[in-house]
Amino acid sequence: MSKFMSKRHDELDAYVPGEQPQDKKYVKLNTNESPFPPSPFAQRLARQAAGTIELYCDPESGALVRIAAEKFGVAEDEIIFTNGSDEVLDFAFAAFCDDKTPAVFPDITYGFYPVFATRNGVPYREIPLKEDLTVNVEDYFGVKGTVFIANPNAPTGIALPAAEIEKIVKANPDNVVVVDEAYVDFGGESVLPLIKKYDNLLVTETFSKSRSLAGGRLGMGFANKALIADIKKIKYSFNPYNVNSMTAAAGIGALLDEEYFKANVATIIKTRENTVFALEKLGFTTLPSKANFIFAKHAKMSGKCVYSALKDKGVLVRYFDKDRLRDYVRITVGSAEDMRVLAETLADIIGEQK
Ligand code: PMP
Repeated sequence: MSKFMSKRHDELDAYVPGEQPQDKKYVKLNTNESPFPPSPFAQRLARQAAGTIELYCDPESGALVRIAAEKFGVAEDEIIFTNGSDEVLDFAFAAFCDDKTPAVFPDITYGFYPVFATRNGVPYREIPLKEDLTVNVEDYFGVKGTVFIANPNAPTGIALPAAEIEKIVKANPDNVVVVDEAYVDFGGESVLPLIKKYDNLLVTETFSKSRSLAGGRLGMGFANKALIADIKKIKYSFNPYNVNSMTAAAGIGALLDEEYFKANVATIIKTRENTVFALEKLGFTTLPSKANFIFAKHAKMSGKCVYSALKDKGVLVRYFDKDRLRDYVRITVGSAEDMRVLAETLADIIGEQK
């Protein structure tokens, strides 16, 4: 750090994203990307949009908003698009938390939440997950803070039913509840329709997983128009042009190509179930995942050991050096072929241990 860095950031422990190695080709199962390329229609629209990037993009992403409003059954002023869902989450910390209104989230969840809180200079409180790594919804009743809840949760993949999330929203009428649905398309239940019923609910979703646009950076937030206006106030104080023209065009293609989206999601769910079966045969225990990843642990090897052995053999997964998580690795559900390589490599590693 240079001597010029503001002391404001002394406490900031920057988020460490999953590796994006450039040294060699790995079977890459570490950042929950889709194994499928973007929809061909999305690619075509993005290429077309590339021809006009001498102009600033539409700061409201109007065309995308109109299509999304129709698709998701909400009004146009109940949506905001952002540069990945990380950005709408960050805006929510900025908009809805302060010294008197801390952020509240589980102790095991998306690792960016504490970073967003610290960078925005707002306090946060972590509520421990239960022994079985599930959320106890009652712990979030009347917490006097802005609740952030990932559903399905990360990195466990465990989902709560929509009715359970609704209880949290209902029990915090004076605070915003942010439901991060980055992985909801893989078997979770969305609470998006509830934005019509509750004025304190913000739902965030991403195009990075089920819609194959991780590198395009496109996220969305849904809430009643007053909350969306609050978030826009933050956006317009930071970067009006946060969604570039090519990404917005790709987003339109991804939304309109519903068939491609549905087929990919169905394939990933099927591959996930097959992989769980293969992992269990190899002596792993897995948590019940409704996401595009599997959180798995082996009786005889730590998470770090599984991660390192796999990396040596060209397969990249993720492990977390944190209490209660150290035994596990998080494995993204890739293509059926990726998962065949994973299972074979794990079988080799287990064989070498004996
Ligand atoms: N929420 C959760 C739970 C995530 O795991 C991720 C992906 N790292 C995100 C949000 C953000 O994804 P993106 O910014 O690519 O939309």
